Amino acid sequence: MATVDETDAGSVPDAYEELTDRYEQIVYLGHAGMVLGWDQQVMMPEGGAPARAKQSAALSAARHDLLTDEAFGELLEACEAADLTDEQAAVVREIRRSYERSVNVPPELVSELSEHQSESQQTWKEAKGDDDFDAFAPSLERLRDLQIERAEHIAPDANPYEVMFEDREPHLPLETVEGIFDDLREHLVPLIDDIRENGRDLPSPFTGTYDEDDQMALCEEVVDLLGYDRERGRLDTAPHPFMSGTQYDARITTRFKEEDPIDALTATIHEFGHATYQLGLRKEEYGSPLGESLSSGVHESQSRFWENHVGRTKPFWEFFLPTVKEHFPGLEDVTVDEAYAAVNRIYPENLIRVEADELTYHLHIILRCEIDRAFVEGDLEVSEIPDVWTGKMEDYLGVVPETDAEGALQDIHWSYNFAAFQHYTVGSVLAAQLDAAMREDLEADVDDLIRRGEFAPLREWMEENVHRHGQRYPTEELVEVATGEPLTAEYFLEYVDEKFGDLYGL
Ligand code: ZN
Repeated sequence: MATVDETDAGSVPDAYEELTDRYEQIVYLGHAGMVLGWDQQVMMPEGGAPARAKQSAALSAARHDLLTDEAFGELLEACEAADLTDEQAAVVREIRRSYERSVNVPPELVSELSEHQSESQQTWKEAKGDDDFDAFAPSLERLRDLQIERAEHIAPDANPYEVMFEDREPHLPLETVEGIFDDLREHLVPLIDDIRENGRDLPSPFTGTYDEDDQMALCEEVVDLLGYDRERGRLDTAPHPFMSGTQYDARITTRFKEEDPIDALTATIHEFGHATYQLGLRKEEYGSPLGESLSSGVHESQSRFWENHVGRTKPFWEFFLPTVKEHFPGLEDVTVDEAYAAVNRIYPENLIRVEADELTYHLHIILRCEIDRAFVEGDLEVSEIPDVWTGKMEDYLGVVPETDAEGALQDIHWSYNFAAFQHYTVGSVLAAQLDAAMREDLEADVDDLIRRGEFAPLREWMEENVHRHGQRYPTEELVEVATGEPLTAEYFLEYVDEKFGDLYGL
């Protein structure tokens, strides 16, 4: 029979257990807040807003209190001093990260920042409506000052912009991401130029108008065909498509454009991809960092894999076009080649990020990241932003917005934070790398699987190689574990060269 040494009282396993028990409660409160958020966007009548704001604030406050409790810090230290398994050490590392980001920021600054963000959102809306950048400029400067202050509390010796970047992308050095951006800029700018000069006009067979109920039925069908688990998910409509949930319940939303059924379809497939990540997390780790997704960029790799590497491929359209025709008999004469070309059309003249295609999109992102870094680091005055924006649009895409509403005021992001665009492009780059690794790994030909509508092997590969790890590995390591290589732009560039070279005859 084992004897228990007295010095074991309050020893490591106990501290670890107590730490993780407490952390679970924090996670559960966060998820309750997420359900309230989903309800607010999908179900709640407008009149509910004031009460909902109070409910959400109360949950946030409760989480904050639990996380910044003094005992919590002591438990973390006890765990860090102990011998832990690799998984346990990863759990402690992630809890430490959340803890530092809460405990080090004074509560007054937290409320000041959140008040400023709500006001700033209002100011932005009006300034955009009036096409008046100057009206928004003071809000932007104030946001920068508050965000720098917050970053300096979190990590006094670090570069504040990097601290901001780590909010979304904690384990991927900004330097790595910027290196990838250099490769993309160098490659995509001439590629888009070639497409523009080539002038080939791809078919656009999806003309006319499309009833919303019919579009919804098509979206319901596509997620069923892709293998959405309806016991743990649902599809609704909301003003902006999003995914919200856990491994037990990951819900998605979509919205419709009357004249473009492809828009809702691709947005739905995108959100389905986000849901696969949540649903692929280990159930037995619910409440632990091992049961949570890793970062915004990794999340985005999952949505973009399904949207682009499945939903925009020719094999997918061979499989899916008959279903589209069942819902929209008017499209009877559309061919697979036409549908495939239509969903992959490049619009170099487009000025708006959220309407951008798969290629120009990344230059919209890179431009924003360059501007907000220079602004946060004091290399750019607020008043210079509109001109710098225009200059970069000209350099990268060869088009120039005539108004700031279509330029530097187009996105809501700068009402809230900075360094919040990188992950979109990280997601596309990683999606292409994962796609290549999957094709290497799977015995069956991935195109054949897609053509036959057999998506389970694709979902399972992602689950096995990405989802089930939760936050076990830092992003750089996860990419190596899943693909055998560090994150690189190579696969994305190969993929776009092949696809668009073929479509545009380059
Ligand atoms: Zn997304």
